[in-house]
Amino acid sequence: MILVLENSFIREQKRDLCLRLQKKGFFTRLVEQYGQTILSVDGPNQDLLLKDLSKWSGIKKIIPGQHAYYLASRECQKKNSIIKVNSSNGDVTFGGKKIPIISGPCALETEETAIELAKACKSTGTDIFRAMLFKPRSSPYSFQGLKKLGVPILRAIKELTGLAILTEVRDPLETEAVYDYVDMVQVGTRNMSNFQLLKHLGQIEKPVLLKRGMGASLEELLSAAEYLIVHGNSDVILCERGIRTFDQFTRFTLDIGAIPSLKEITHLPVIIDPSHASGKSSLVPSLSWAGIAAGVDGLMIEVHQNPKEAYSDGAQAISIKTLGEVIQRGKSIASIFGRELG
Ligand code: PEP
Ligand code: MN
Repeated sequence: MILVLENSFIREQKRDLCLRLQKKGFFTRLVEQYGQTILSVDGPNQDLLLKDLSKWSGIKKIIPGQHAYYLASRECQKKNSIIKVNSSNGDVTFGGKKIPIISGPCALETEETAIELAKACKSTGTDIFRAMLFKPRSSPYSFQGLKKLGVPILRAIKELTGLAILTEVRDPLETEAVYDYVDMVQVGTRNMSNFQLLKHLGQIEKPVLLKRGMGASLEELLSAAEYLIVHGNSDVILCERGIRTFDQFTRFTLDIGAIPSLKEITHLPVIIDPSHASGKSSLVPSLSWAGIAAGVDGLMIEVHQNPKEAYSDGAQAISIKTLGEVIQRGKSIASIFGRELG
């Protein structure tokens, strides 16, 4: 169960409450977030405790039952969380009226092509450049990214374009290597349930883009977000990137229904990645527009100068020209819903 404590409750009182519950054999976790103090209580025989608790002081609200997530839910916070990503071109915000665009290649390849692409992405109205160095590839024989060798390229892109930079990390050493040059970090689909990684990223001071596991339910996605929040990082943006279904035509299946569903149950921003979802460049525009109509708070799209020669995911990369068209038509769709794209 979850207990929401009175704001007037002081530290010693909170500690005493935890000790009292622990003495009864319960596992407790005290978390302060969103201007609230919550105490989760786990263990057997909660029904008996429930009767008792109504007589205890300092408890504002009791939410009985098992809760995989609470802080990430609309029950905890009704209004949308607005997540700010720092950028020298003007901060980028997710969760408000604007729908930011994240674009870039699947992976950085060379300094020259990366800088050229970053400048081209900027010219389309891109807000954040995806600059991946550490690639979680299904096959160990596939290109694994430039890794640490690419770190100077991140700095160069930042200096030359001022774009905010997103990169994926898979462990604390990778975070350390890129930390000074990135504005947002990504947890990839394969790591959504890597709880040690989530605990680590809960302790950093940069927003986290959390991608839905390809076989994960929305509850599992929100529980992963809860890990980040419980460990101290409430700057979490969720990303629907396609789930595995029986269909083989597309690489994954973009779960459009997940967008309004998540918007109902969580206050966190929700973006989509139509590139990995479809695996096909021809489908990226339609899925992007469908996502805008379904209420996304951002788009992440893979682009490449020469998709046929891309080191990875060329089949799903669109050209800069197509990205421009996606954004232009997307603006009209967004305006129908009172939103602004890019
Ligand atoms: C990516 O965005 O670079 C990526 C690898 O995506 P996913 O984790 O969704 O496969
Ligand atoms: Mn990719």
